[in-house]
Amino acid sequence: MRTRLVYILLSLAMLLIYVCFLPSDEAEAYTVENKQVTIYEGETYPMDFFVSDADFMNLRLLSSDRSVSTPTKDGALLGLKIGDCIITISDKKGTRDEIEVKVVSKEDIHMVALTLDDGPGSHGMELMDFFDSRNVKATFFLIGADVGNYPQSVQRMVDEGHEIGNHCMNHKQLTAVKKARALEEIEDGAKAIEDVAGVPPTVFRPPYGDSTEEQRIAAGMPTVLWNIDTLDWKYKDADRVAKEIINGAKDGNIILVHEIYKTTVEGVKKAVDKLTAKGVRFVTATTLLTRDGSKVEDLIGQRLFSKRIKKK
Ligand SMILES: [Zn+2]
Repeated sequence: MRTRLVYILLSLAMLLIYVCFLPSDEAEAYTVENKQVTIYEGETYPMDFFVSDADFMNLRLLSSDRSVSTPTKDGALLGLKIGDCIITISDKKGTRDEIEVKVVSKEDIHMVALTLDDGPGSHGMELMDFFDSRNVKATFFLIGADVGNYPQSVQRMVDEGHEIGNHCMNHKQLTAVKKARALEEIEDGAKAIEDVAGVPPTVFRPPYGDSTEEQRIAAGMPTVLWNIDTLDWKYKDADRVAKEIINGAKDGNIILVHEIYKTTVEGVKKAVDKLTAKGVRFVTATTLLTRDGSKVEDLIGQRLFSKRIKKK
């Protein structure tokens, strides 16, 4: 008798669980992260940059002006002609959203360089996955003594089109050690990075930003400093990191964060999503610094903080 009761109760419990977790046809939620999006003429822009949790095949996507921008079935926007239009998204549940889309000229591409110092570290893979999904190209200033600890991260940086930079062997302040020692730090760092990456670093950043002209020339590649310091290492606050990046992402700026803090990784993700929707393009330091036609050789020895170009 008791066994039977237990059996009945158990069956009822199972039924309850089944009903509660029954897959529903109406579960077609999506979240619009940005209602205003800027894209470039002649380019394709993945909509999951600003609409998350969406199954685009099951959504209705309509453009108010198909000659300006058209959504594709698999969730991308085509930038067809300079102008504005509204993309309406709706699902079977009746949830409906409007997104203002601005298509601008490729000549107006808004570029910033996001530079990540002091890695490689344990968040490298997570960052790389994110950058890959958002088409972000970043610059990683690596510490020579640490590259051997995360060879896969370093390999991915190279394979996925990021730039790797020499941040010296042991993160010593170059202006505080003997001349010969400083040059060793630079040389050993570059060699350690090349040994793991398979290619030499292409930019140099002295620890704490301090270097002499002799050291910069000895480095043999452009010395990339920054004009936006997020102070991420000091506050370790994701929202603050995001805010500093968003406020600092003016065209031509070089933004400094540190790869090794979880709060920085979170802040970077938030900021990148907001900024890509505004049409900001994240490029490597060298892409930014040579976009006006400057030659890499001519940049060696200088201290480079940003790259503004005059727009017509
Ligand atoms: Zn550093």
